[in-house]
Amino acid sequence: MASVARVDLDGNPIKPITICMIGAGGFIGSHLCEKLMSETPHKVLALDVYNDKIKHLLEPENAHPWSDRIQFHRLNIKQDSRLEGLIKMADLTINLAAICTPADYNTRPLDTIYSNFIDALPVVKYCSENNKRLIHFSTCEVYGKTIGSYLPKDSPLRQDPAYYVLKEDESPCIFGSIEKQRWSYACAKQLIERLIYAEGAENGLEFTIVRPFNWIGPRMDFIPGIDGPSEGVPRVLACFSNNLLRHEPLKLVDGGQSQRTFVYIRDAIEAVLLMIENPARANGHIFNVGNPNNEVTVRQLGEMMTEVYVKVSGEPKLETPTIDVSSQEFYGVGYDDSDKRIPDMTIINKQLGIYLSCTPSLM
Ligand code: NAD
Ligand code: UDP
Repeated sequence: MASVARVDLDGNPIKPITICMIGAGGFIGSHLCEKLMSETPHKVLALDVYNDKIKHLLEPENAHPWSDRIQFHRLNIKQDSRLEGLIKMADLTINLAAICTPADYNTRPLDTIYSNFIDALPVVKYCSENNKRLIHFSTCEVYGKTIGSYLPKDSPLRQDPAYYVLKEDESPCIFGSIEKQRWSYACAKQLIERLIYAEGAENGLEFTIVRPFNWIGPRMDFIPGIDGPSEGVPRVLACFSNNLLRHEPLKLVDGGQSQRTFVYIRDAIEAVLLMIENPARANGHIFNVGNPNNEVTVRQLGEMMTEVYVKVSGEPKLETPTIDVSSQEFYGVGYDDSDKRIPDMTIINKQLGIYLSCTPSLM
């Protein structure tokens, strides 16, 4: 139920607002809608091409205490004249819409660039022209590779955080050559970030940019052939879940040596809610959102998921639980990888720190 006397981080009462959420039917959108419906009085205009992941919030009609606070609009932002009107009706727009599965970046680079840059342009324009606040979802991938990855393998500097910790206001964006089409996504996200930043600087757009660091949890992507295309390749959590459910070895791309920091979706959503409800603290900022203390190699992730699956299912472990595959074989030509992703959390802690300082999983 929505609470009555909600206050922001500065002790001011929070007024109910209307949020135009684009991409509300996806993984992050579905969790954000759940949070907004169950814990706040805010209204959501939920825009997406699909609504399967938020059906439980929409149906049966009028059955939930929040039924009059969420409205689904099935539309494709590429071509729909309703977009500007919906943005105008809201106080805040949150843009989550994107092609964001790495298997697409080198195999569908045009769709990837259009989705992450061109299709986001009207959203930025309408927000700027109508003086509406925008929270735009970018990605940790805009950092690309770490500076440390270019050092000799045995260099002691590789252990120095100065060479790998990723800071919003200092770290460079390091991508591979144009032939490495993996970086089409990161580059498109970088350019839309720059455009939003420029709209803020030149035209006063009130914006917040979010860079998620591998948020994981229920409803992430799809299980190929079950609730998604059988040829599709989702992100690693769903890939490994699919392998386990099909009793296949987990495929470790290039030996599974890349490192990632994972954070549970519900912890990350807490941070997004703080951004929504504390505009004075969040506007004009780019925020890393991740857990720097939760780093594993992809190989370790595979081993942990296998252990958990064996425990939960009671099935025996496969004789060969993992196999190594080359990235070319798994993703095709033009794939490349981020070696390591540790978010610096100084800025988000400073701006929205009251919550984060008491939540170890986001520190
Ligand atoms: P997702 O694919 O589950 O959700 C994206 C949603 O956008 C989908 O429901 C899709 O149907 C919708 N969409 C795409 N194009 C659209 C269009 N033209 N018109 C209308 N709807 C459209 O992805 P997600 O994991 O929820 O990610 C949301 C955002 O966060 C993306 O911008 C992504 O780049 C960013 N991000 C997420 C992560 C993560 O850890 N999940 C990491 C980095 C960045
Ligand atoms: N990966 C893997 N096996 C799989 C799927 C992914 O080894 O079945 C690796 C991938 O090469 C990358 C990491 O897991 O190093 C994370 O991939 P994901 O698709 O989740 O997205 P990313 O973090 O690269 O954006």
